[in-house]
Amino acid sequence: MFDLQRLIRPNIRQLTPYSSARDEFSGEAQIFLDANENAWGSPLPKSYNRYPDPLQHRLKAQIAKLKQIPERQIFLGNGSDECIDLTLRAFCEPQQDEVIICPPTYGMYEVCAKIQDAIIKKVPLTADFQLDTESIFRAVSPQTKLIILCSPNNPTGNCLRQEDVERVLHAFNGIVAIDEAYIDFASQPGFLHRLQEFPNLIVWQTFSKAWGLAGLRVGMAFASAAIIGILNKIKYPYNISQLTQETLLQALDRVDQVEQWKAHIIQQRQALSQALQQLDIVQKVYPSEANFVLAKIRQARKVYAYLLQQGIVVRDRSQVALCEDCLRITVGRPEENEKLLAGLQAYQAQQTASGPLSH
Ligand SMILES: *Cc1c(COP(=O)(O)O)cnc(C)c1O
Repeated sequence: MFDLQRLIRPNIRQLTPYSSARDEFSGEAQIFLDANENAWGSPLPKSYNRYPDPLQHRLKAQIAKLKQIPERQIFLGNGSDECIDLTLRAFCEPQQDEVIICPPTYGMYEVCAKIQDAIIKKVPLTADFQLDTESIFRAVSPQTKLIILCSPNNPTGNCLRQEDVERVLHAFNGIVAIDEAYIDFASQPGFLHRLQEFPNLIVWQTFSKAWGLAGLRVGMAFASAAIIGILNKIKYPYNISQLTQETLLQALDRVDQVEQWKAHIIQQRQALSQALQQLDIVQKVYPSEANFVLAKIRQARKVYAYLLQQGIVVRDRSQVALCEDCLRITVGRPEENEKLLAGLQAYQAQQTASGPLSH
């Protein structure tokens, strides 16, 4: 049976959270002398002298409409990174509790788990980058509090099979967090609308990818109201700045622009994948449901260095298990993708000229 109270670290369960001035009074008043702010203003054209809404109600109301999820089931963090970090801190007792991750995947899960000093159990994906559910179930122990999945997965670009994720959600009595940073680019809907079905589910999404707001730093966690309550209890009181809240509210009015970009990116992803496949040095382009492609390339490290000389930076994943010889390439604007392809062609021509076996 899923028992949330049993999963929460005892110190967090017992914690009385910090109660900020804005928590204790959030109504209308004429004179605010409760938070030791500067009553004159800020040395800027616009004033930021007041502490922001700790729970970001206006923002969440808009996000609730956009995602069709009630406000009380939404948490906002300083990037998804904060959501990942707080989830580990809420559930994993240092040196005692375990988190299962499935590499190759996003590196922050391991870093946050290590900072928390949680025990990390790695259950690698299969050769086709899917969940090895049997091995995951074998790895689960009474100390396993959290399983982190990523779909579409970074750096492989594929979605995890829905039936496999469902099996994990059904069979595991701990928390299952699904990182859907790239879900906007995927052909499947993801798990956001299945929160009622799975009380142990947390879905992470972000404004950093499709929304084009990586510099703003806003990530989202969606879960039961009870789980969201725990994250709210342990976050920094004012984790989303006033500037960020106002700016994101403006951006949320422009969903149509984001939808347009999404279509462009998906189209460019297709064009880039096809063009890469034409190159002799490219051994394989993995199918992608994200805004990047993973390509297996002969002498990937040399290719990476060559591209860098041309001023083009991609992500070298060639030393990552199951991604040997792979580069991860973000889908750029058409002219950027063309320059990348020209660079790869130039490299290839140089290799052919100096003989196929030369190094
Ligand atoms: C880019 C990315 C994120 C986004 O992180 P932010 O902190 O929201 O910028 C989250 N998860 C994965 C797998 C990513 O690749």
